[in-house]
Amino acid sequence: MSESPIINVQALQFAYSANDLVLQDLNLNVPPASIYGFLGANGAGKTTTIRTILGLLQPTNGQVQLFGKSLQEDRSKLLSKIGALIESPSLYLHLSGYENLKIACRYFNIPYKRIEEVLAMVQLEKVGSKLTKKYSTGMKQRLGLAIALLNDPDLLILDEPINGLDPNGIIQIRQIIQELHQSGKTIFLSSHLLSEVEKIATHVGVIHNGKMRFEGTIEKVNQLKQGQKVHIRTNDVDRAVPVLKEQYSLRILEDRLIEIDISSEELVPSIINLLITNNIKLYEVKLVASDLEQLFVDLVG
Ligand code: ATP
Repeated sequence: MSESPIINVQALQFAYSANDLVLQDLNLNVPPASIYGFLGANGAGKTTTIRTILGLLQPTNGQVQLFGKSLQEDRSKLLSKIGALIESPSLYLHLSGYENLKIACRYFNIPYKRIEEVLAMVQLEKVGSKLTKKYSTGMKQRLGLAIALLNDPDLLILDEPINGLDPNGIIQIRQIIQELHQSGKTIFLSSHLLSEVEKIATHVGVIHNGKMRFEGTIEKVNQLKQGQKVHIRTNDVDRAVPVLKEQYSLRILEDRLIEIDISSEELVPSIINLLITNNIKLYEVKLVASDLEQLFVDLVG
């Protein structure tokens, strides 16, 4: 029997104002025990999706299921299994980290003994008594994470957790996320940087203009990133195609234009050589990326 996805979103639509859909028939599947990187440029709709998943925004249409159950049916029970950190944490800056956690414990009805545990999980155990106004951005972010961990959630949802952090802060958050994942938690995190997500994610979803453009494993992302195409213009398509077909998969796009799939641009000189040694004239050779590949390139940038 296959396990239900931890998050399952189907045909989700959301509009802040009439006739302006920010989420357009969005589908999303987060497998159990994954680190799911939710990637998209600024304004793509990541935060809106997260808020809808948590029931903070009502979708115009579509379904959200958490742990195999409909969000509408049992929202408070489902949310009790989730820890979330959306944008910057709301902290009382005139209080210490420990005192901020005490307030959260009272609010969620969690015993204070949990505080030491979560402080250790986010590497703040030595500075729990320090005022949070003296914390660095990274420390504040980790304290926000500690608050999200108080209820020992099965699923952790983090919106741009490394935004604004220095390299050290980024490494610390990454380590903590990996440790939490190893302890069995499913992690859903959003980011606008593929370079960051690919360091830790097991699965990736890419949102662009409110639509899911890609969802798959990190291995699939790596394959796609390598996949490029070459466009060759020649006046001798009839001879070029059989020569190329022996080694490459290709298609004829127009009268004199052939598209060839390649795994690396290093293959371009071999393709040119192959055609020239067969006395086939080349009028144009161009490397192209498909829309999705271009999207990944933009996200890396
Ligand atoms: P960022 O990384 O910049 O936060 P994002 O991918 O999280 O981007 P969203 O914040 O979900 O994107 O925004 C998606 C779209 O919805 C954007 O065009 C944004 O301007 C718009 N939007 C977001 N919040 C509101 C709001 N409260 N009212 C109206 N429009 C909004």
